[in-house]
Amino acid sequence: MVPFTYARPATLSEALRLGTGNPAARYIAGGTNLVDLMKVDVERPAQLIDISRLPLRSVEPSAGGGLRIGALVANSDLAYHPEIERRYPLVASAILAGASQQLRNMASTGGNLLQRTRCAYFYDTATPCNKREPGTGCSAIGGLNRGHAVLGTSESCIATHPSDLCVALAALAATVQVVGPTGERSIAFADFHRLPGETPERDTNLSAGEIVTAVTLPAEGFAAHHTYIKIRDRLSYAFALVSVAAALRMEGDTIAEARLALGGVAHRPWRVPEAERALKGKTATPQLFAQAADIALQGARGHGHNDFKIALARRAVVRALTQAERGTPQPQSLKKIL
Ligand SMILES: Cc1cc2nc3c(=O)[nH]c(=O)nc-3n(C[C@H](O)[C@H](O)[C@H](O)COP(=O)(O)OP(=O)(O)OC[C@H]3O[C@@H](n4cnc5c(N)ncnc54)[C@H](O)[C@@H]3O)c2cc1C
Ligand code: SF4
Repeated sequence: MVPFTYARPATLSEALRLGTGNPAARYIAGGTNLVDLMKVDVERPAQLIDISRLPLRSVEPSAGGGLRIGALVANSDLAYHPEIERRYPLVASAILAGASQQLRNMASTGGNLLQRTRCAYFYDTATPCNKREPGTGCSAIGGLNRGHAVLGTSESCIATHPSDLCVALAALAATVQVVGPTGERSIAFADFHRLPGETPERDTNLSAGEIVTAVTLPAEGFAAHHTYIKIRDRLSYAFALVSVAAALRMEGDTIAEARLALGGVAHRPWRVPEAERALKGKTATPQLFAQAADIALQGARGHGHNDFKIALARRAVVRALTQAERGTPQPQSLKKIL
């Protein structure tokens, strides 16, 4: 047992005061990832700063006609929020594809962005892992890597980001609001998570002590033409082998705007602007979707056990775009039909 102190600040400024300048402190929200990591000795905080009582639980309209989601809004509350169901069903579908109802009740929006990889070696302190202990090596390269990344990898780390919600947020071009010792700032979702490079220990571009306060969705939610497909080993309660968030704005048969992001394939949610540009202004056809999938998987490289992900992701992209274009009902909209 590693001793730690526990504080439950009532205000953001108090939380920041406790969290700034103390590298051994950790913020805790729902605790569904952090506590697990503490149990297996991967995280050893000297102080836990419980931010779960801070006033960051509201979902409200944002200045640009979008929606501002407080960092402590629980995943389940978000998935069933009327404005999310109506305007951003892609977000609801992605959340409901993840974890279990009990976990979603505890898991927070901010915590979901900051959850760590599910690479088994990262959780196993008996094995080398550059993310857990920089400079020790990567056990997944040349090891068991069926669930690992095929895009954006480095010689240091081939881990994936495990979130479903983040894939939808990447596709929708959300913004992350943070506050830290030097004040508030907004981070475009594309700039929030990092590729491993030579510093796989850093998952995001958050600075020390910063707290995520909200995630803002832009006005366009692509409610009429969207799909979140998650392919996994079990039908539920499993992380993605591959997932795809596809969102289209259709004008007749023409794709006026396209969004495409993949999960389970890279160290961060993998949005593909080149494929989006290739789709824009074109008539939706199977050939066009196949071309977009080729673009999305350009440069993909397997590591042995996970080679299958490249073909799987390619097919998943084609299926997601096809379903999105047809307006195929998703779990949320099905709920209304049934
Ligand atoms: C068995 C299991 C299955 C799961 N399956 C899925 C799945 O299929 N898909 C999926 O997407 N997720 C899945 N999850 C992950 C789950 O969604 C995350 O654990 C959860 O979203 C984390 O939120 P939390 O509030 O519990 O974070 P915590 O565990 O409290 O915190 C996680 C990290 O975020 C930091 N943190 C939290 N909030 C803030 C903040 N506001 N500002 C700064 N730092 C912060 C903490 O310091 C910590 O480092 C699963 C989890 C488990 C245990
Ligand atoms: S893939 Fe990354 S997290 Fe997994 S063992 Fe290698 S360095 Fe560690």
